[in-house]
Amino acid sequence: MKITRYKKVQKYLKFYYNNFGFHQPYQVLIDGTFCFSAFKEHIAIREQLTKYLNGNVKLLTTRCIIKETEKIAKKTHGALTILKQFGIHECGHKEPVSGSQCILSMVGKKNDKHYILATQDRDLQEKMRLKAGVPLLYLHNKSPTLEKPSPASYGKAGQSLEANSSIFISPTQNEALKNMKKSLGIEEKDETKKIIVKEKKQKNPNPLSCKKKKTKQGNKQNDKKDKVFEGRVKKRKKSKHKNTLP
Ligand SMILES: [Zn+2]
Repeated sequence: MKITRYKKVQKYLKFYYNNFGFHQPYQVLIDGTFCFSAFKEHIAIREQLTKYLNGNVKLLTTRCIIKETEKIAKKTHGALTILKQFGIHECGHKEPVSGSQCILSMVGKKNDKHYILATQDRDLQEKMRLKAGVPLLYLHNKSPTLEKPSPASYGKAGQSLEANSSIFISPTQNEALKNMKKSLGIEEKDETKKIIVKEKKQKNPNPLSCKKKKTKQGNKQNDKKDKVFEGRVKKRKKSKHKNTLP
């Protein structure tokens, strides 16, 4: 496994650990589509996921998912045999529902049981991205891939951070406010300074443009000045040489 790939997955897992309380063993909820792909690509799910997530994994499925795969995958018996190796989590559906419906109810609103969802079902992935704290795992180019946390997940994490910080700040709220005002005051001054500087800079080009408009006489005068200046420089140089010579 490439180092960048390894670093990425560890970064994402840390995010879910810090913000949503994910921990080992990782509970990977696997559906029929994932199994079907794994079977097709000859991927040993347990081995690959353990290596990829660099931790203990609990591979799980539900009765509804198995039932659905039994119905659909008569040709793909292999996927079913893989699926049946996994632990079965009780979904509470007496009458089996579709795999995606079952997963949606298992994850619920907050994904309290910290499932990492392994699916190739794009519709289901899309629905899960709208929920915060549902890691998505799928096979991409024959490799397990943990998707970057969704904007909903980042948003929720940001909200919870703000909520925490406001609680911590409250005892020293006055000081914080004073500092805020100070910083704001400084910022305002800086802005006015910047504006003044900008205005000055804008004024500068005007005298230059006036020079261009000047008559030939003005130019001649400038030439004379330059000659005089050059002469001085030359003299200075000579004197310098004299001084430096022993
Ligand atoms: Zn179910």
